[in-house]
Amino acid sequence: MSLVVTGSIGIDSIETPEHSVDRVLGGSCAYFAAAASVLTPLRMVAAIGDDWPNEHETLLRRFDIDLTGLEKRAGAKTFVWSGKYLDNMNIRETTYVEVNILGEAPPPVPDSFADSAFVFLANTDPGSQLTFANSFPNKRLVVADTMDLWINTDRDRLNELLNVIDGLVLNDSESTLMTNEKNPITAAKLIRTQYNLRFVLVKKGEHGAILVHEDGIAALPAFPAEMVVDPTGAGDSFAGGFMGHLANADNDDFSTMQHAMAIGTVMASFTIESFSLDTLANLTPKMFKQRFDHYAQMVRV
Ligand code: AMP
Repeated sequence: MSLVVTGSIGIDSIETPEHSVDRVLGGSCAYFAAAASVLTPLRMVAAIGDDWPNEHETLLRRFDIDLTGLEKRAGAKTFVWSGKYLDNMNIRETTYVEVNILGEAPPPVPDSFADSAFVFLANTDPGSQLTFANSFPNKRLVVADTMDLWINTDRDRLNELLNVIDGLVLNDSESTLMTNEKNPITAAKLIRTQYNLRFVLVKKGEHGAILVHEDGIAALPAFPAEMVVDPTGAGDSFAGGFMGHLANADNDDFSTMQHAMAIGTVMASFTIESFSLDTLANLTPKMFKQRFDHYAQMVRV
C-alpha cells in the first residue's frame, strides 16, 4: 500500500566528540524516506529553498523515492540545523536553527499522491502536519513524530494534530515534556488515552523502544552497536523502517507493529554508522537481511 511522508529537509552541521561535518543533507523527512524506501515505494512531499546544494539532490536521488512532491521554492531558504553531541553520544544540544521555509506555507500535495493510505508526518511544524494529515481521503493509518521545539512553541496546534492522527512516535524526554510524567510507559499511556490514539511509540535511544498500543505493550532493545559515528536521524530512520514495513505488509495490527519495530531498530543501526545518509545510500537488501537475522536471534526468548 502507498506510503507518503512530509517533514523537514535540512542542511545540517554536526559536531561529535571525534568528528564534525558542515552543511550535509539531513532533515526528518530525508532520513525517514531513505530508510522506508529500502522496504516499499515511497512518496515524499517537502520544500527546499534555492540555496539547496546540488550534491544533496544527487544524494537524495540515489534512493527509490517518488520526488514529484519536492518543491524548490524560489526566494526561500532551506531549513538549517546544527547539533552537538556530548561525550557519551546520548545527549545532544541544538546549537543553531533557522526555521526558514518550515515557517512558510506547506508544500502542495501532488494529485498523483492523493490515494495514499499510509501517511507519516515527520518532524516539522504542527500546522503543516495538520494540513497534510487532512489531505488524503483514502488514509488508513496516520502517524506523526514531534519534538521539543514544537511541544514548547506550538502546543495548541500540536493538540489539534493529536486529535486527528492514529499514532504518535516520540522520544522518552519528549513524552515527559508533554505529560510531566517521568516513566515513559505511564507517559505514553496518558498521551494515548488523552487523544484517543491507537498507539504511542516511545524511542529511548540506545535503550530501544516501547510500543503502547490499544491491544498491548511491546518493547525491544536497540541493536547493540559498536560503531556510532553520528546518531542524528536514528529516530527518523527507525520510523521509516517501522512505517515502511507496515505499508509493505499492508497491515497495521499489533503483531505486525511488533515486527515493524524490529525492522526500524535495525534500520536505525545503519544510519548511526555514518554522517547524513551515507550508510543508507549504500545499504543492500542482503546487508539488511543479514543484520536483521542476527538481531532476531539476539532478541529471541
Ligand atoms: P533525529 O536525530 O531523528 O531527531 O532527527 C534529526 C534531524 O531532524 C536532523 O537532520 C534535523 O535537520 C532535523 N530537525 C531538527 N530539528 C527539527 C525541527 N524542529 N523540525 C524538523 N526537523 C528538525
